[in-house]
Order: sequence, then C-alpha cells, then structure tokens
Amino acid sequence: MASVSCSSSLNKAVRQEYMSLPQGEKCQVTYIWIDGTGEGLRNKTRTLDSEPKSLEDIPEWNFDGSSTYQAEGSNSDMYLKPVRIFRDPFTLDPNKLVLCEVLKYNRFPAETNHRQSCSKVMELVKEHSIWFGMEQEYTLLGIDGHPFSWPPNGYPSPQGPYYCSVGAQNAYGRDIVECHYKACLYAGINIYGTNAEVMPSQWEFQVGPCEGIEMGDQLWVARFLLHRVCEDFGVVATLDPKPLKEWNGAGCHTNVSTRKMREENGLIYIEKAIEKLSKKHKEHIAVYDPHGGKDNIKRLTGIHETSSIEEFSAGVANRGASIRIPRQVGQEKKGYFEDRRPASNCDPYAVTKAIASTCLLDSEGGSE
Ligand code: ADP
Ligand code: MN
Ligand code: MN
Ligand code: MN
Repeated sequence: MASVSCSSSLNKAVRQEYMSLPQGEKCQVTYIWIDGTGEGLRNKTRTLDSEPKSLEDIPEWNFDGSSTYQAEGSNSDMYLKPVRIFRDPFTLDPNKLVLCEVLKYNRFPAETNHRQSCSKVMELVKEHSIWFGMEQEYTLLGIDGHPFSWPPNGYPSPQGPYYCSVGAQNAYGRDIVECHYKACLYAGINIYGTNAEVMPSQWEFQVGPCEGIEMGDQLWVARFLLHRVCEDFGVVATLDPKPLKEWNGAGCHTNVSTRKMREENGLIYIEKAIEKLSKKHKEHIAVYDPHGGKDNIKRLTGIHETSSIEEFSAGVANRGASIRIPRQVGQEKKGYFEDRRPASNCDPYAVTKAIASTCLLDSEGGSE
C-alpha cells in the first residue's frame, strides 16, 4: 500500500530478536522536547550507566537548535533540562523517556518553552488544587497526506455512523488507538479513555484529571507516544484542527475544576470562573492554538459542534458553546466545566496557564 511508509513494513519479527537481547546494567534514556514550531516533538537517546531513580540521576543534555527551528547556526547549542520521567513502552524497563524543557544559550526559556511560565502560575494557585482533563482529538493520514483509509477519489459516506463506532465500514485504524492506549498505561500516563470521533479516521483520547503543571507534561508525552505508535504502523497522526472543510474539526477540550468546585454547591464557583472567562475571550483565543487564533478560525465556525470564535457563550450540556457545564454537573451542583475552544494543536501549558490565571489570579474580586 503506497499510503503506508516503507519502514513500517520492515521485518518486525527480526526486530524482536534484537529487542529481547539483555542490556546489562545500562539504561537507555530518550530525551523528548518541543521544537521551534511549538507543535513538533523531537527526541534523541543516550546510555546511562544504571537506571535513574529520579530526575537528579538524569543529566542535562544539549542539541543543535539550528536544526529544530530554535537557534541560529552560529550559536546553536540549546540545553535540555529533564522535568518528568516515564517508562519507555517501546524498549521496555528499565529504559526511560524523559520530557525536557528547552533553554537557550543564556539559560532563559526557548521561545516555544511555555512550561516555565505555566509552572509559575500553577505554584501561585497551588492552594486551589486545580485539576485539568484534556480531550485530544486527532486525524489519521497516510504518509501521502490523504485521510487514512478514505477512498482515493471522493469521500466516505457523510458523518453520522462514525462517532464511537464499531465495524470495518465505520472505524478506521483502531490498532493505533489500542496500541497507543496500552503504551500510555505502561509509560505512566494518566490516560482516562478513548473514542472514535465524528469524522472517519478521527479519534480522541483523554488525559486526566491531572493537577497543575502535570497536565501539560502528560499530554505532551501522550502525543509523543501517539506519533511513535503511528510510526510503527506507517501512518501519520495530525493535530491539524481542521483537516477538511466540510467535516468536523479537531479540538482539545479542556476540563477544569478547583477543590471548591468539586465540593458541595461548587457550581457557584464554576459560575464565577465562567464569568471571569467571559471577560477574557479574545485573550484566551489568542493562546488556544499555536498561531494566535489563525488555526482556530477555521474550526470555531459555530457549526460542527463548535461555538463562534467571535463570541463567548456558556451553557449546560451545550456543545455549541465556548464553555459547557456537563449535564451531570448541573444536576449535582458540583464538579467541573469544559472549555471547548482549545484547538487540537494547542500547547497545553499555554491553555492551562491562561485558565488558571483568569479563573484564580484575576485581581478584581480576589481569588476564588
Ligand atoms: P466529553 O463528554 O466532553 O466528550 P470525555 O469523556 O471525553 O468528555 O472527557 C472527560 C474529561 O474530563 C477527561 O479528560 C477527564 O479527565 C476530565 N475530568 C473528569 N473529572 C474532572 C474534574 N473533576 N476536573 C477536571 N477534569 C475532569
Ligand atoms: Mn470527549
Ligand atoms: Mn471529542
Ligand atoms: Mn468534550
């Protein structure tokens, strides 16, 4: 099949023979970071003499920033600062994946390192125990860029049967979804669930609830695992928020709660947060995709289960609103709310930082 990559059809049984060789005391550590596009992930691997037990055992490293859109060739070394360790589901224990922050030559955060400032905000609001859960939608493509398993000319039958579907006529590429799910569990990702989406070859997984900075860390590594699993199968997962004009786009709905929202009558605090969010709509749209709203313009049209990018709206069980209060939360009068505006390719550090600051650090009315 031309739409599947050549490396995916290499002999995996031969690979397995090598993969099962003992490796002694040594440990492979794969450093993962966000590149200069703010969307792309990069990684490289090194050997440590023994299994690292904590972050302190993993040395800082560096890379050539001029090859990742992050630096000029004349001053190209960037630092990789390890921030969170996961188990490696591809080479297995004791090997590790380590998510890193990127620092420039002067040790200031790189342009696309939004983790540092997010982390500062999360420290400031710590007392509120803010939890996030993010729903990552994505679309599978062949390496030729055509939606995976769609007819070469023309379209599949219209939207309707695909969401949460079963059956070969409706669900395209479930192998990837199931392998990614297992890989997440093995790695230590707090994966919440998964489902087929409204457009064929579009899927979703959810991560959370995660407190504070951990949300961004976990989602970025879950995305890395998705791309890596897809590589094995020779297909591509795109986080493009609107791959096809006439079809549902892809978002990254962000669910939010504070301790007070989760307690009896927490709905009052949910309503207060929504009130604050309503006054900062433009500011939020500007950070809910990596291009300042340009990607989301195509997706937040007011149709296809989205709100308009121009106006803020909120409602119980309303999937055409910016913010939705799940029906059950409305009934129980406590729980969480869902911000449906973030695009599938958003930076979760930028999104969670904006939500935490608007809802909890807004000076008028103090912090709730
Ligand atoms: P939807 O009905 O919008 O498709 P999903 O079932 O896909 O919802 O996702 C629900 C998300 O809500 C998950 O990411 C989960 O982690 C998150 N979530 C559940 N409870 C809370 C909570 N109290 N605070 C924040 N997020 C939560
Ligand atoms: Mn969902
Ligand atoms: Mn969805
Ligand atoms: Mn949702």
